[in-house]
Amino acid sequence: MALRPIGLAVVAAAMATPILWLPEIAVGRDGVALFSQYLGMTALIAMATSQLIATRWLGVEQVFGPLDQSYRLHKWLGLWALVASFLHDTIDAEMRGLGRETALVEAAETAGEISLYGLLILVAITVATFIPYHLWKWTHRFIGVFFVLSAIHYLFILKPFSNGDPLGLYMGLICLIGLVAYAYTSAPRRFRPSRAYTATSITEEGNALAVELSPVGRPIKHRAGQFAFISFPGVGMHEPHPFTISMAPNKDGHIRMSIAPLGDYTVRLMSRIVEGAEARVEGPFGDFGIARGPQVWVAAGIGVTPFAAMAQALGPDDGPVTMIYCVRDRSKAAHLAELERAAADKSNLTLTLRETGSEGRLDADVVASIAGDLKKSTVLYCGPAALRDVLASGLGKHGVSARRFRYELFEIRTGIGMKKLLKYLTERGAPERISKLMSKTAG
Ligand SMILES: Cc1cc2nc3c(=O)[nH]c(=O)nc-3n(C[C@H](O)[C@H](O)[C@H](O)COP(=O)(O)OP(=O)(O)OC[C@H]3O[C@@H](n4cnc5c(N)ncnc54)[C@H](O)[C@@H]3O)c2cc1C
Repeated sequence: MALRPIGLAVVAAAMATPILWLPEIAVGRDGVALFSQYLGMTALIAMATSQLIATRWLGVEQVFGPLDQSYRLHKWLGLWALVASFLHDTIDAEMRGLGRETALVEAAETAGEISLYGLLILVAITVATFIPYHLWKWTHRFIGVFFVLSAIHYLFILKPFSNGDPLGLYMGLICLIGLVAYAYTSAPRRFRPSRAYTATSITEEGNALAVELSPVGRPIKHRAGQFAFISFPGVGMHEPHPFTISMAPNKDGHIRMSIAPLGDYTVRLMSRIVEGAEARVEGPFGDFGIARGPQVWVAAGIGVTPFAAMAQALGPDDGPVTMIYCVRDRSKAAHLAELERAAADKSNLTLTLRETGSEGRLDADVVASIAGDLKKSTVLYCGPAALRDVLASGLGKHGVSARRFRYELFEIRTGIGMKKLLKYLTERGAPERISKLMSKTAG
């Protein structure tokens, strides 16, 4: 559910390693310039790690944590790379007596400048979450180009150690890891490991389409609650998108994705997908799933998908589970009949449908009124971020600690909390205070 401490330790160790050689290099040199150079190295390390996470290689989740969390780290590393590059550019990194400024050195300097401004633009686009996803994604692929320019800057700039020294070799290895990761993520999709499936049944479920897929060869091995990236090249939908596998693991290796029309790709997919369509599945990812002991599952809208799989997988020794399924009205509720059947069959699963259109919005008090005493329960939530925030702020007073509130958001691209920060500042009267201060200063 969270970033793995080992992943954070790896990042910290990678950034701290150059310090091993700095005291020796610092003798007789300008310390401030050396510090600036160290900042530049941490920017490179952050960018390379960020590229590594973007590969979604097998070990990424093991080291850094479930993919949604790893992508958060990917974003914060990108931001650190920007801050560190900016400081490196601002604090003079030049040292006297390092050699002659050749054309190559000048080109390396220019590469560094271009990389900094490019990063600045791309990070601004990344945190501005109102910019449509496909535009962001298109611009985001250039981040690797700026990494390449940063690596060129580092390799050919005049520095107080050579590329063959231990520190030079270490940073060379970092550049190589980042470059290989970038080459892999930019390579054609056929080079990425994925499994072939065929769509065998397509049914309407509320306002979603449930697409059942059977494996052509070896199936993926998933746990109930996990997600996978899927594309449908057979019907011209080549871009892989993440969807939860809304079916528990089974002996035939069948999987099901329940897809709601939330944007451009999903609307197009709904009109194109046909039985027999070829699909490619990459994954599984994530670690959302059945918890231990008493649980409350809160599903909102299409956030029902992990719970649909978990309800199927729920064993007699799991739970007990109280599931609250929140939808505008019954007709929009995907997999409702299936969940009602599971609740009727399994004595440890109870289901409450909350129709927000007629019964009002859900909050932590409503959850407690349905599920009873929450002090020993783990609350699992999947749905929109706004309801997640409402529950996160209200469940504490019902005895649910932050550790026992777990959630999955259908969002991989997250901002840096600017909206929350602005809301917080507005609630505390910051705009009024600033305007008072400004008028005082003007007076
Ligand atoms: C872990 C996870 C599980 C999900 N499970 C389901 C599910 O079971 N059912 C369901 O209907 N939806 C699910 N989604 C959401 C689904 O991925 C998006 O609705 C879909 O990708 C939207 O694409 P779009 O182009 O139609 O919409 P857009 O409006 O273009 O995108 C809407 C949002 O979807 C995300 N998104 C779009 N394209 C991609 C992409 N290629 N890769 C990653 N994220 C992308 C972005 O955050 C974007 O802001 C899940 C998302 C995640 C992260």
